[in-house]
Amino acid sequence: MKIDPESYREFFAGRTLVLGTKHKKEDVIAPILERELGVRVVVPDNFDTDQFGTFTREIARTGNQLEAARRKAAAAMELLGADLSLASEGSFGPHPDIPFIPSNLELVLLVDRKHGFEIRGHHRSEEANAASASVSSVAEARQFAEKIGFPGQGLVVRRDEHRNQDIFKDISSYEELEEKVSYLLSKFLVHKVYLETDLRAHANPLRMKNIGLAAEDLIKNIKSTCPECATPGFVIVDTVRGLPCQLCGQETDLALAVIRECQKCGSRRRDPHPEAKTSADPVMCGYCNP
Ligand SMILES: [Zn+2]
Ligand SMILES: [Zn+2]
Repeated sequence: MKIDPESYREFFAGRTLVLGTKHKKEDVIAPILERELGVRVVVPDNFDTDQFGTFTREIARTGNQLEAARRKAAAAMELLGADLSLASEGSFGPHPDIPFIPSNLELVLLVDRKHGFEIRGHHRSEEANAASASVSSVAEARQFAEKIGFPGQGLVVRRDEHRNQDIFKDISSYEELEEKVSYLLSKFLVHKVYLETDLRAHANPLRMKNIGLAAEDLIKNIKSTCPECATPGFVIVDTVRGLPCQLCGQETDLALAVIRECQKCGSRRRDPHPEAKTSADPVMCGYCNP
């Protein structure tokens, strides 16, 4: 069967896609989806994403990043009675391959109930504006704020790192920042107050950029269609190791191939690993270099 490379558009063109966000993510996501898929993106009024967890930890996120995105997508869809939804979920933590380097992982998840599939896109970046400081004066607060790029980058002022009261967000100027810091220092007679970069998308320009890149990755995955049934999202589900050693030909632990699979009809295909060379450096061989 010959599949038209533009066939993915037939799945989406003219449909309404619900984007559940209250942090302006539509600014970077909607133009990409509308251009590439021909959908109309709508953002529900008063969609409270805080119920799924906050970065400032008043509400803990339950489950992992993907589960959180699924819940968000489902809630947004139900709110508007739609059958197509997209949710975005970010996380911050150490880079999995480079210890001690902070990183930001952005996930976008498209859920299509009409056709019965979901497709992900993601982007990991070491450019993560996640920083914090305990300060004991207005001058120290100002110093930290300048370092992280406030007010373009948002800042949260709180009494301490763990307590869920006395948290100030959406501070827009240095005057306001100084006022909140002085207030906390004098009201509670504490020696230090806690500042952290605001990780919500609208207050974090680097995150916003990474969300846009995750949306581009989603489009790439959508455009990869099943060679049997043309369903979008024919993506890598597994990696096969065993790239042969250049010297002795034995299998190494390096990636050799990838397996792509269709969620709809289950058709699978093995392709060469996108980054694999034809053979492995003997340094990586258990026989040549034990
Ligand atoms: Zn298929
Ligand atoms: Zn070898």
